[in-house]
Amino acid sequence: MREPRSYATQSIILKHADLGEADRIVTLLTPYRGKLHVVAKGARRPISKKAGHIDLLSHCQLHIASGRNMDLITQAEGIESFLHLRTELWHMTCGFYLSELVDRFLEEHTIHQDVYQLFLEALRSLDRDALTVCQQRAARQLDTNQEHGRTQLLLRSFEMNLLSYIGYEPVFRTCAHCATELQAVENGFTPALGGALCPNCSHLWAHPLSVNALKVLRILQRTAWASVPIFRLDARLHIEMELAMHGLLRYHLERDLKSWSFLEMLR
Ligand SMILES: [Zn+2]
Repeated sequence: MREPRSYATQSIILKHADLGEADRIVTLLTPYRGKLHVVAKGARRPISKKAGHIDLLSHCQLHIASGRNMDLITQAEGIESFLHLRTELWHMTCGFYLSELVDRFLEEHTIHQDVYQLFLEALRSLDRDALTVCQQRAARQLDTNQEHGRTQLLLRSFEMNLLSYIGYEPVFRTCAHCATELQAVENGFTPALGGALCPNCSHLWAHPLSVNALKVLRILQRTAWASVPIFRLDARLHIEMELAMHGLLRYHLERDLKSWSFLEMLR
């Protein structure tokens, strides 16, 4: 069957690159067509009507014409622009990090409705959290540690789900080497085996993984983000979980992500 000459799709904007004098190549995540690269003609002109709707991280409705080399955006309407998220540097950087993850892990044209929904819900959470931070700051009740802690957990939850959806589900219930059930003691962790190791298998080549880190990671693994309880975790525990999850991501991608150093600086 021939491809239709034009189509409409909801999209989240993952990435921009300049093309020629005034155009842009836009990387989109769509629910039913996966990740796409399309051209937005004239999007860098100040008078462009499309430009505002295709900002990074925007959720929009696009009309796209099939082109010989690349498809073209013919019409763009905003659905959600996540304005609060854009006013808080920390939350915006978290959003850019999630979009970098999605872009790195998903191949073009591979359909992942689960990842699309996960990303959209995460952006909505970040936007709500950014609004809360704004309001707390206005009322002088801001507890930055707690607020950053919540978004750090959101990032871990996102990483966990993303890996599971694309077939790299982290192993946190049984030992990733001998498959015995893990006990509430200090276990180990090895990205190359995909998760946690029992004390017997850990002693050779694993980093230690504390009881609390394992407990929280397991909760994140089996709980949708909206139902994850509000924890008060200390900074060391956040860093331990971040190192474990980043270890897994680095192992699968065989590289670091650009956003990591910036997130670390802001944290
Ligand atoms: Zn074992």
